Amino acid sequence: MAVLELVHYGNPILRKKCKPVNDFSNLSKFVDDMYDTMYEEEGLGLAANQVGNDINLFVIDISHIDDNEFQRLFINGEIISGSGESYFSEGCLSIPEITLEVKRPETIVFKYQDIKGDWIEEEFDGLLARAIQHEIDHLNGVLIIDRVPELKKVTIGQELRKIKENSEIKMRQKSENQGLVI
Ligand code: ZN
Repeated sequence: MAVLELVHYGNPILRKKCKPVNDFSNLSKFVDDMYDTMYEEEGLGLAANQVGNDINLFVIDISHIDDNEFQRLFINGEIISGSGESYFSEGCLSIPEITLEVKRPETIVFKYQDIKGDWIEEEFDGLLARAIQHEIDHLNGVLIIDRVPELKKVTIGQELRKIKENSEIKMRQKSENQGLVI
């Protein structure tokens, strides 16, 4: 078991479009660590770039509300279509302590690969559809703050600046530490 370090708003990896997964032979350790990290941080979902790995993979576990949705893994996912609309208050592990009302399609058809690389197309609604859309946004470099009106973004500007500053300090410390290999 290993809990990975989360990256926060301000780290450029959260703004990158993540690379497709081509090699499915060696994913299980990283996927296990993703689950460990998600449970430790008490999130419903986690995208690979939130732990500093820019590959197209995310995990979700909403088994607290639906037994069938324990440890779902989605690789190289793509939203095929969406319908309806709903508003829901979303938080994000990469933007601590901020929740925003985000409008998204209620139902989606989603195509993805499983851990063996097999393609699956499935329809999702409710919380799972919501979580998938949040995570796939991450893998495309999109955050919840991009999904709300500009005026709302202004009201949380100070908190966002603080998170960004802390994130930049952390990145600076990390690169300095890497310079101290003796
Ligand atoms: Zn998030």
